Amino acid sequence: MRKAFASQADLEEKKVSFIKLSDNAYAYTAEGDPNTGVIVGDDAVMVLDTQATPAMAEDVIRRIREVTDKPIKYVLLTHYHAVRVLGASAYRPQQIIASQDTRDLIVERGEQDKASEIGRFPRLFRDVESVPAGLTWPTLTFTGKMTLWLGKLEVQLLQLGRGHTKGDTVAWLPQQKILFSGDLVEYGATVYAGDAYFSDWPATLDRVEALGAKAIVPGRGAALTDAAMCKEGIASTRAFVQDMFASVRKGVAQGHDLKRVFADTDAALRPRYGQQFIYEHCMPFDVSRAYDEATAHRDPRIWTAERDKDMWASLQS
Ligand SMILES: [Zn+2]
Repeated sequence: MRKAFASQADLEEKKVSFIKLSDNAYAYTAEGDPNTGVIVGDDAVMVLDTQATPAMAEDVIRRIREVTDKPIKYVLLTHYHAVRVLGASAYRPQQIIASQDTRDLIVERGEQDKASEIGRFPRLFRDVESVPAGLTWPTLTFTGKMTLWLGKLEVQLLQLGRGHTKGDTVAWLPQQKILFSGDLVEYGATVYAGDAYFSDWPATLDRVEALGAKAIVPGRGAALTDAAMCKEGIASTRAFVQDMFASVRKGVAQGHDLKRVFADTDAALRPRYGQQFIYEHCMPFDVSRAYDEATAHRDPRIWTAERDKDMWASLQS
């Protein structure tokens, strides 16, 4: 049977959890759907990734209002993907913060990414009409590192290297050793690597690990709530990235075309990773990007709604 495109057959609603990690940190997770982090400072709230639409963000706001009435002043975009960005307007933040590299990606490919992602995930763009026209633009950008002081609470925004995208940013509470990783770390969900840098990602994860987190809000999957779980989440993400790239490079070295490399890589990885959330969705995009990186393209090519469907049809036929 031909597989439905991307996540178009994934229509079952997920159960949301809103977990307290400390007096200042919360995780909004939903069984493998994109997560949102919340930092409650002395005088303001910061939201880390926004959900896909303002209508969906309203549920995050409802949860925040159950624990604090402080104003939501800041939104951090950990990277540029539409499914995490397009809910931003609901929070009416004073500042939308992102790395300069993330802003550059929004300029270069934000419009195409918006159309592409809405096509891939119909369920994840509930009430897509609530998304304002145009793109979500950062109002504050930084390079490398920026520190916010929410009263006495230190929030470090760090670029630890390329991985899931070239603009990846994590948020780190050094006083509490709590990390908001964005899609650099996943837990029980397959890594999406369509815009990734396979050669860089493992070393970036080494730097994530060196922080010594005792809790992580990953990009997808349940919150990691002790040091051992954090290590496990980082290790399983690194293992997938390395296994994927090794399999694709092997096929390229043997002179195989993309379709053959996809079939062989799926056969190699499915026993270990096939039960994860969004495995079927991610594999064709991940293999396509790994093949590009192993051949002619140091930087990810832009996905458009049309390229998505052409690629899917050619690999699944
Ligand atoms: Zn992403």
